[in-house]
Formats: sequence, C-alpha cells, structure tokens
Amino acid sequence: MAATHGSSIPSTMKAQVIHTFNSPYKFEDIPLPGPPQGLELLIRVGAASYCHTDAIFASGKFGGNLPMVSSHEFAGTIVALGSDVAQFNNINEGILTKLEIGTRVGVAPRPFNPCGKCWECRNAPEDQKGVDDGVKFSLRCPQASTLGINAHGGFAEYAIVDCRQVVVLPDSISFIDAAPLMCAGYTMFSAFKKGDFKPGSRIGIVGCGGGLGHVGLQFGAALGYEMVGIDAQDGPLQLVKNLDTGAKIFDARVTEPEDVLKALDSGAVKDPRERGVDAIMILPETQMAFEYGMKILRYHGTCMMISTPAEGFHVSSHDVVLRDIKIVGVLPGRRAWLLEMFDVVAEKSIRPVSKKYALFQVNELVKGCEEGQGGKAVVDMTLK
Ligand SMILES: [Zn+2]
Ligand SMILES: [Zn+2]
Repeated sequence: MAATHGSSIPSTMKAQVIHTFNSPYKFEDIPLPGPPQGLELLIRVGAASYCHTDAIFASGKFGGNLPMVSSHEFAGTIVALGSDVAQFNNINEGILTKLEIGTRVGVAPRPFNPCGKCWECRNAPEDQKGVDDGVKFSLRCPQASTLGINAHGGFAEYAIVDCRQVVVLPDSISFIDAAPLMCAGYTMFSAFKKGDFKPGSRIGIVGCGGGLGHVGLQFGAALGYEMVGIDAQDGPLQLVKNLDTGAKIFDARVTEPEDVLKALDSGAVKDPRERGVDAIMILPETQMAFEYGMKILRYHGTCMMISTPAEGFHVSSHDVVLRDIKIVGVLPGRRAWLLEMFDVVAEKSIRPVSKKYALFQVNELVKGCEEGQGGKAVVDMTLK
C-alpha cells in the first residue's frame, strides 16, 4: 500500500502499455500514478473507450511519449483530489456539480494542465475556451498535455486527470455508456452546436456507422434534424439500421450521390442548387468519402470536417467559390456543450453501441476495430 494515496488504494495497477510504435500493447503491472497535484484527480477507471486517435498514436504518426497508456475517453470514480480542487469547486458553485471522493465522472479529451497564459489561451475563440471554468484557457493550449499521447490515459485501473477535463455523470448513465461519449459523443455534439443549424435542417453524416457516426445520427435525430447517413461497410450499415433513428441510410458502394439526391426529395426538387443536405459531416479519412459528401451538399451548405487524414483532403475551389460551400473544422468544444450533451443523452435515452472487452484484451479490441465492426469498442473494468 502506498502511504501517499491512503490505505484503500494499491501501489501498483494493471495497465495496457505501448512501449514502441507499431507493436502490440503490453499488459503489465506498473506503479500507480499520482498522488494528484493542484487541479488533478485520481480516478479508478470503470470503462475506457478506444478512439481512432489511439490507433494513429500507436502508428507513431503523432510522435508523443513512450511508454504510454492509451485512451483519452473514459469514465470512473474519483478516489483522490489535488489540493486546488476545493477552490475549483468553490469557483464553480452553482455551475458545476461538486467533485468529491466517490463522484462518478466521465473524462473528455480536453487539455490536461492548460497554462491559461499563452497566446492561444488568451486569444482562442469563445467556443474553444474553457470559459465556464474560472481560469480561462484554450482547449488547444500548446503547453497542455493530451491523455494517451503525452500523459497516461485510461487503459489502466487508475488514471490521473485534470478536473477541467471531467463531467459528473448522471446516475442513469453507466461507465460503459459514458466512456464512448467522452470523445466520440462530445465531438459529434460539438459539431451540431458549432453548426448552429436551423431547426429541421437536413444533415448528412458520411461514415454514419462508425464510432462517432452512429452517435451523431442519434444526436441529430434527438435534436430534431432530418438525418441522412452514408456508409460503405456491411457491419456499420447494419448497426445504424438497427438504431431506428428515422435517418435515411445509403450504402455508398451501390448508391451514386445523384441517386441519394433524387431519393431525398423523391425526385421532386429539380434545381441543383436546392437539392441535397444543408450540412455534411465527414468522418472517414478518404478523398472518396469527402467527395461523396460534397456531392450531396446543397449550394451555400456547410461541410464539417471532423477527420484529419495525414494527406489532407483536396477541396474543389468550384465548391468553395462558386457553390459557396463553407468548410468548418470540429473538435470537442465548450464545457457547456458537454453538460448539455449529457442532458440530451439522459432525456432522449441515447446510447452508444459498444463491444466490450476486458483490460487484458486490448490487442483483440484493436483487431476488432481494424476489421470494421462498427460502433465503439470499450474496455469494461468489471470483466476479468
Ligand atoms: Zn478521441
Ligand atoms: Zn496555454
């Protein structure tokens, strides 16, 4: 037992660790992190979700620190508090639920220890500021760490997190359901908030059956939008058909964009400016998926770029200049959006579809994702 943590917390823990890029995770015993300093919390992890970013990190394309415990979207119970958390609770009284030992929280890919002083922290647009958090900082602060990239994440029994990264979970949401919402759900909800679409808008999602897409379809339907989903794999297509969101779903392998346009209005709308979706959210990393989305977007529509392929996307200047398509990038945004997301999740019974694995099975989990199983893959700490 580690004296610094108190008697109920062990001194070592099980974790999945990446030691070298492009090689499997190693399941091993490592020292418990902490104790928490300043605004940090020690969390006993209940569930941890796998994000595409974890795959990119493991490939070495991001760089980052090694050895590393992956996962930046997870959920668990607070077991120890840093010395400044009480002050954080006071500043946010009436805004945020108090963070205490035993509180159930979700951990989002918000910055870990942002500085609050650099140019980025002082000048970020309002939607990218932690403006509800007392001290202002940017969600992109270059001085901050990112869990799973240069600070240990959630594929372990315990994790140190920053209290500005967490949200208190409603009692009705399990750790298993919360974990995939912390990045995938938060990102998609931020896309709807950032898009600020008119009520009843028609919104398309390319890659609708993946980890982000299938949650996005549920959010869109819950927020009252007319949803259109595109995918090109059997598993993900079946997954979203089973969700019963009312979305119109198309298989891009057998449906040309022109056929989607005709199907949306039963061929009644002839003016090419008017036909199509008001906004398209692009999730896959391929140029083909990007172009498919652009082709079903109406004039003056919005393309929301959510993926970041290394080679980028080729954008047609015809689309931007002559069709007046706006291109908007999306990352998880304001904390208020995260809180609002959980209100919608609780009220509308939105649930991510997840395949569950024990912590020792992370390499199996990665394989399942690579094979395109659709939905999310989550480590459930109750499975041994
Ligand atoms: Zn993520
Ligand atoms: Zn900063």
